[in-house]
Amino acid sequence: MLLTTLAGSLPKPAWLAEPERLWAPWRLEGEALEQGKLDATVLAVKLQEDAGLDIVGDGEQARVHFVHGFLANLEGIDFARKTLMGIRNNRYTAEVPTVVGPIRRKGSVHAAEARAARAHTGRRLKFTLPGPMTIVDTIADAHYGRREDLAHAFAEVLNEEAKELEAVGVDVIQFDEPAWNVYMPEVAEWGVAALERAKQGLTATTAVHICYGYGIKANIDWKGTLGAEWRHYEETFPVIARSSIDQVSLECRNSRVPIELIRLLDGKDVLVGAIDVASEAVETPEEVAATIRAALRYVAPEKLYPCTNCGMAPMARDVAYGKLAALSAGAALVRRELKAAA
Ligand code: ZN
Repeated sequence: MLLTTLAGSLPKPAWLAEPERLWAPWRLEGEALEQGKLDATVLAVKLQEDAGLDIVGDGEQARVHFVHGFLANLEGIDFARKTLMGIRNNRYTAEVPTVVGPIRRKGSVHAAEARAARAHTGRRLKFTLPGPMTIVDTIADAHYGRREDLAHAFAEVLNEEAKELEAVGVDVIQFDEPAWNVYMPEVAEWGVAALERAKQGLTATTAVHICYGYGIKANIDWKGTLGAEWRHYEETFPVIARSSIDQVSLECRNSRVPIELIRLLDGKDVLVGAIDVASEAVETPEEVAATIRAALRYVAPEKLYPCTNCGMAPMARDVAYGKLAALSAGAALVRRELKAAA
């Protein structure tokens, strides 16, 4: 019970990419870059083991960004045709590639790093992919016309990729859907259906991660406008509870999400974000334990997975791994209490 895991990304070593920034450019090229990505993946897995995580991930070491890393090996996208677009309902403006034809997968996107991670850990392995709605919200469309149709096109290639990752030995496949905290009516209209298409036929555990984003200024400013209570999950959790997704990863630490909203996820595994990725302050084990204890009022310990609020890509490396160690220590504290009380 209380198996610890992480939302997804981790900082990359400075020899691989410029540290402490999102979209950091690579510092290697060609063969050296491909080998460097695999080496960084193995290192990330080992450092997560040392930090005590029960379910480890690839740390997204082989992708520049969690969405565009997946797009890199797809047909139908013109990367040279950049469109300036407001994303997440205009929270940021970004120059994004453009969909110009039918979306197809040219071949495997992430299998190499999944294989490297699998070869070097005996622990349960988790792998993250962007969810269909979040991809649609991070790319311009000059071909499909409807967001829902584009989402289904991406769902089909995500499904092919997920099946390949499962065959490599990945135990948990998580789809990242930060857009689900922005376009809540669309989650019910087509978002969940698109995600279910992406996970169709998988036997691995499937998760969806819904958050308030990386700890970057645009997100921190946005959170400042959300009021005293963040109730976005209240609209989407009941729909997710009726879906075939196994696990839901959400943001709890230092957020204004009323913790009782977890109740709406009855029947699902809940990945409780107990680590703030927008603060350099490393949580104490006791602070982590307090978040877990609060969530335990609404979810059983065997369904509660202590986790990070979101990805940690732009953080300082020692801070990120310090936070993972605190996560494990906090979970261990609560596990001892539960055993003592049993
Ligand atoms: Zn996130």
